[in-house]
Amino acid sequence: MTIFKKIIDKEVPADIVFEDDKCLAFRDVNPQAPTHVLVIPKKEIASLATAADEDSHLLGHLLSVTRRLAGELGLENGFRVVINSGAEGGQTVDHLHLHLIGGRGLNWPPG
Ligand code: 5GP
Repeated sequence: MTIFKKIIDKEVPADIVFEDDKCLAFRDVNPQAPTHVLVIPKKEIASLATAADEDSHLLGHLLSVTRRLAGELGLENGFRVVINSGAEGGQTVDHLHLHLIGGRGLNWPPG
């Protein structure tokens, strides 16, 4: 079981900013910018690479929630959404998550 599943089950505390029946959004414990929120499905999907075509509606929902949160969190000057997938993608928690990052200028390309 991953740490994110424990956060979903409220076994581990998190600074939750949004929740519905399909997903949860909470602040990253090690923020990389003034605003850094993780949006995760409640369904245990290990990564984007292992998501199924049947998950398309859920994946779209995660993006819609992320867009709404960007507005609610005041990121009107822009923001970045990142999904790390797999070892070379920099994924460290094996539960699909979208990083919503903003509140400062962000460089490109990433490291
Ligand atoms: P990844 O590297 O897998 O794309 O991102 C995992 C993210 O989860 C990291 O940014 C890390 O700081 C965050 N994280 C790991 N454990 C916890 C935790 O227990 N609570 C919270 N809020 N964030 C976590």
